[in-house]
Amino acid sequence: MLQVYPILCRAGIMDNYAYLIIDEETQTSAIIDPSEPNPIIKKCEELKINPDYILNTHHHFDHTDGNLILKQKYGCKVVGNIKDSHRIPEFDIGVESGKTFTLGNSIAEIIDVSAHTQGHILWYFPQDKVLFTGDTLFNLCIGGLFEGTAEEMFSALQKIKALPDDVVFYPGHEYTMHFAREALSLQPNSPVLIEYIKRAQDRLSQGLPVAPVALKTEKQCNPYLRAENLTELKHIL
Ligand code: ZN
Ligand code: FE
Repeated sequence: MLQVYPILCRAGIMDNYAYLIIDEETQTSAIIDPSEPNPIIKKCEELKINPDYILNTHHHFDHTDGNLILKQKYGCKVVGNIKDSHRIPEFDIGVESGKTFTLGNSIAEIIDVSAHTQGHILWYFPQDKVLFTGDTLFNLCIGGLFEGTAEEMFSALQKIKALPDDVVFYPGHEYTMHFAREALSLQPNSPVLIEYIKRAQDRLSQGLPVAPVALKTEKQCNPYLRAENLTELKHIL
């Protein structure tokens, strides 16, 4: 079993999420996308965890700026797409799309979703039905096309859509309410979407992340996942 602790970073500015994940049986642990060190160190101290790894989804500073300080403090190894080895800070271990990475007894599948950046990967733990999507998939939205094309984003989204409905996902930012209105304008009478937004408001007002949301729900509500072809996707990009 994998335990997942979301950690809000750059609160009120970029609203990044880093995640502390712990493989329960072995207590092997990792930080996903350490945006900045301090909130992460605080969470690690609270749970008395020395993270073994840093797992990056992509090279952007708001996902990797904590790499150096956390590595110095905990001696953890930085893991990312081998193709990003030259631009992820403090890079130690390369993974490849289609291959796996072992965290204690938990196994992550690496899925290339180059579009937001070239070399962006998803960290997918099929046994635990947990997916970390970085800046590719957000709640009700997707990340911008910094280094890729609409075609590449469409193909990335098809990979996510192909994953089982009962997988839950954890995004790299809390952007839900930025896009709720737009999603609602496209589907004003969807009970699932109305319920999604109600739950999101409720959780955010309690200081909780909107994640985790099941892919089943996201596939029904996220306009970018709903796009059935490239033309439809381009229409809303
Ligand atoms: Zn990014
Ligand atoms: Fe980001």
